[in-house]
Amino acid sequence: MAGEPQADCVFCKIVSGDIPATVVRKTERTLTFRDINPQAPTHLLVIPRVHYADAAELAAAEPQIAAELLVEAGGAAAGEGLESYRLIFNTGAGAGQTVFHAHVHVLGGKPLTEGLV
Ligand code: IMP
Repeated sequence: MAGEPQADCVFCKIVSGDIPATVVRKTERTLTFRDINPQAPTHLLVIPRVHYADAAELAAAEPQIAAELLVEAGGAAAGEGLESYRLIFNTGAGAGQTVFHAHVHVLGGKPLTEGLV
């Protein structure tokens, strides 16, 4: 069912505690943790606790939680002392999405004025 945990989803396993993660923020509906393969000095992932394949599906089904991802991304960036940062929603394998549980990347801590990352 939409929003239910998926047995084969690594981020659902982080939500349930079956896989460890370096969690930096949590709310009733979201979790923010460090990316295991950082692409910048600060690289966080903000995810909903509920399972949707990508951010657009989440926003269609649960717009308030989708908005909360952005609030949390801003809060996490501020918590890391970032004045500038980049938010990325990879959507679909062709765009580089590898984990099909909605998430937003928060990247910062280095100049991000060239290229996409
Ligand atoms: P995507 O390419 O937008 O789907 O991003 C998925 C991200 O999840 C990648 O940057 C991975 O490095 C990250 N990732 C995958 N597994 C884990 C994990 O177990 N802990 C933290 N980050 C993970």
